[in-house]
Amino acid sequence: MAHFIVLLGPPGAGKGTQAKAICEALQIPHVSSGDIFREHLSKQTELGKLADGYIKCGQLVPDDVTIRMIGDRLKQPDCSRGALLDGFPRTIPQAEALDDLLAKMDAKIERALSLEVPAEVLIERLSGRWSCPTCGRVYHEKYNPPRQAGICDDDGTPLIQRPDDRPETVRQRIEVYRSQTEPLIEYYCQKGVLVNIDGTQSIEAVKQDILTSLAGVR
Ligand code: ADP
Ligand code: ADP
Repeated sequence: MAHFIVLLGPPGAGKGTQAKAICEALQIPHVSSGDIFREHLSKQTELGKLADGYIKCGQLVPDDVTIRMIGDRLKQPDCSRGALLDGFPRTIPQAEALDDLLAKMDAKIERALSLEVPAEVLIERLSGRWSCPTCGRVYHEKYNPPRQAGICDDDGTPLIQRPDDRPETVRQRIEVYRSQTEPLIEYYCQKGVLVNIDGTQSIEAVKQDILTSLAGVR
């Protein structure tokens, strides 16, 4: 059976950090809308250039474009086993479109994991976030540093800071999360698939809570 899991949480909650363990546990691919947009941007595709205008100022990319992009990704053969959706859906119309896409694949969302972290913690996490432009692995200069400062443990690539992690843009992104994405918590609660996770704990403790919450899925 295909396992489709949604990771919800404000920017900096730890979604990308926790993704690997979930994907390994369930043997499903990591589908991150933010990563796909950034890949398009690095290749300077039309979609990448369009998305960049929104990403830079902390706004959401329009639903129609985003839904089409994820729809194409979910049609790839590796998603026949399911997928971990990270950063998508972010609006109610996206969540409804996802339900329709999955219904066509004879599947549905099994769990929506909501990582809860207050705003002041998010700003500190994002200002110390560094990521690998090659493999996407995420580090924090204080909470999860690489073995050698500024270098990815996995492939030796110099790490970068995202331009949208500046405090002004982060505040805007948190605001957008509150107004447009937080209603999804109620949406998935009503469907009986929501699990709240305390995202303020250590990376390891959050991982354990997530794996426990997935026990019934395996
Ligand atoms: P974070 O991991 O910090 O939550 P993401 O990498 O998921 O951030 O997203 C970065 C930016 O990409 C968002 O601020 C937004 O502009 C755009 N984006 C990502 N996913 C979506 C989506 N599902 N709908 C609209 N815009 C999105
Ligand atoms: P998201 O994908 O939700 O935007 P990330 O996984 O990129 O969030 O994490 C944001 C930053 O916070 C990264 O620098 C990451 O290393 C750090 N981080 C993630 N989880 C924790 C945690 N539980 N405690 C402390 N720092 C964390």
